[in-house]
Amino acid sequence: MTPRHRHWQRRGRARTAVTSPVMPASEHRPRPAPPRTPIGGHVPVAGGLATRGLAYADRVGAECVQVFVGNARGWATGPGDPREDALLRARTGLPAFVHAPYLINPGAPDPDVAAKSVASLGHALRRGAEIGALGVVVHTGSAVSDDRGAGLARAARRLGPLLDALGDSGPRLLLEPMAGQGRVLCATVEDVARYLDALEWHPMAGVCLDTAHLFAAGHDIASSKGMRAMLDGFGAAVGADRLGLVHANDSALPCGSRKDRHANIGAGHIGAEPFAELFSHPVSAGVPVTVETPGPEGPHAADIAALKRLREGSGTG
Ligand SMILES: [Zn+2]
Repeated sequence: MTPRHRHWQRRGRARTAVTSPVMPASEHRPRPAPPRTPIGGHVPVAGGLATRGLAYADRVGAECVQVFVGNARGWATGPGDPREDALLRARTGLPAFVHAPYLINPGAPDPDVAAKSVASLGHALRRGAEIGALGVVVHTGSAVSDDRGAGLARAARRLGPLLDALGDSGPRLLLEPMAGQGRVLCATVEDVARYLDALEWHPMAGVCLDTAHLFAAGHDIASSKGMRAMLDGFGAAVGADRLGLVHANDSALPCGSRKDRHANIGAGHIGAEPFAELFSHPVSAGVPVTVETPGPEGPHAADIAALKRLREGSGTG
């Protein structure tokens, strides 16, 4: 059996699993309570992944964390501090994720940018394994000035070997769709399915959905019904087993703006209420949620508290 067939099989199972709970026939049967969703945030780590990051996480009430393991806006990579890594790994019950640097573009037409992107993402994946991260988030990239189809083919060619090098126990690579600016390769839920198709549904490829990006890309999730429709669509086109992380951010700009401007929960055009769906919908319930909203600590703590109230209100807290 070729790898392609195996991947399609995995996808088929996921589709069955996620579509059954939303079928009308099951509405009247008792359903098990959705799993509890960990809620946390992106935490600063200058001063040590554990020393600074865990202290910050505790102060803002984070139940999961996302960190940078190098310069977020540059190509510089560091070896990490084994003592800090060990302290972070020792904090069991706090799922951790790595966000790879923003400059990475797997679809870049420029060979120099492409080489740096592969090296930088390889570093993030290695560091992710060292700290016991569940996933490493990377932006899905852009064709820049070139054709999108060619860009997607380049991205698949460059990501394939990195995915193959991940052991079964290592972090998954979590592909994050973008706001739809310029010639990005992936912004909508339908784009995610095409992107994973290009990767032949590699078993180590997962997805990180960012609510602000989805909203900017045209998914109108500013109502519970809209959030539900987006998650239903993800379940059908991609499969719940692919969703590894949600970035819960409100949007400072209206739906379809194609611009990436995060706002604090309830302070933007999405509003607080629709986020409650994340905690009860069969596609996202139990999948860790992190905020990447404007800080500093006070607003982050308030956003995490607001999401926890919505979780408790949804009957899954
Ligand atoms: Zn994000």
